[in-house]
Amino acid sequence: MFDVIVVGAGGTMGSSALHHLAKSGVKVLGLEAQAEAPHSNGSHHGHTRVIRTAYVEHPSYLPLLGRAHQLWQELQQASGQVLLETTGCIYSSEGTLENSCTQHAIHVAGEHALEHRILAKAEAAKLFPGYRAFPEDAKFMYEPAAAVLQPEGCIRASLTLALSAGAELVCGAAVTGWRVDDQGTVHVHTSKGEYEGRKLILAPGAWLPKLVPELQSLLSVERQVVGWFEVLNGSADFDADRFPMFVMDDRDGVSQRRPRFQVW
Ligand SMILES: Cc1cc2nc3c(=O)[nH]c(=O)nc-3n(C[C@H](O)[C@H](O)[C@H](O)COP(=O)(O)OP(=O)(O)OC[C@H]3O[C@@H](n4cnc5c(N)ncnc54)[C@H](O)[C@@H]3O)c2cc1C
Repeated sequence: MFDVIVVGAGGTMGSSALHHLAKSGVKVLGLEAQAEAPHSNGSHHGHTRVIRTAYVEHPSYLPLLGRAHQLWQELQQASGQVLLETTGCIYSSEGTLENSCTQHAIHVAGEHALEHRILAKAEAAKLFPGYRAFPEDAKFMYEPAAAVLQPEGCIRASLTLALSAGAELVCGAAVTGWRVDDQGTVHVHTSKGEYEGRKLILAPGAWLPKLVPELQSLLSVERQVVGWFEVLNGSADFDADRFPMFVMDDRDGVSQRRPRFQVW
């Protein structure tokens, strides 16, 4: 009998839960539907994910982001691998700042005393030459603490540390349902048989509406596409140490770009 069973242990949230529980001495089992973890079907697939501090979406994220930064740093240190690179982030808007992502980011950074600088195009291009191609009327806010994570590397590191702290992991075990008996034991049904635990953590990501049909009306799953491109002529202007990622709103909407990375 396990203290805790984590469903979706091959993903971002599940692998992290597995690691932290095992590290705290909890007898924990991770169940993952896919044959291996990480894998190319999850939200974590790909080379990079961004973590910023001037989070414009909602102020309630700010303390969570501070804690997340700290935990990613700890994971990096414990794993001895490069999982996170601090590149900084440029928020850029063309023309007027009114109601732009840059204006919101400046507001959040000011309100929460986050380190930031407001830059004119010429200054930005001098500091970061890759930005010289931006429009002349672009406005910039630079936030130095933003970083880029290697999402698959983070999962690998969390799972390695979880297993060495005593966690168990079963891949290829798709959870189909569970039942709680009179003693409060959770019986988890999977494609590889049944497992018993005292508590259950669900971290199935985009599969949550399938696993918990009661939530279907609240959740809609969307496909998000991301691409990585080689830099032409190998220009160093786009290397991670001199090209902060950017969040830009221009006349076509909001987009994000990240610097060139070595992928491990
Ligand atoms: C294109 C793209 C870009 C993104 N960019 C950013 C970014 O820059 N910054 C940022 O913070 N976030 C970003 N995100 C979001 C971030 O990647 C996700 O929030 C995060 O990876 C979700 O983790 P998760 O553990 O919930 O899901 P996943 O990593 O998908 O893990 C869920 C796991 O559950 C498993 N599972 C599902 N059903 C079952 C079952 N029945 N039984 C057993 N296992 C099951 C799956 O196989 C999977 O391994 C981005 C997402 C996408 C898609």
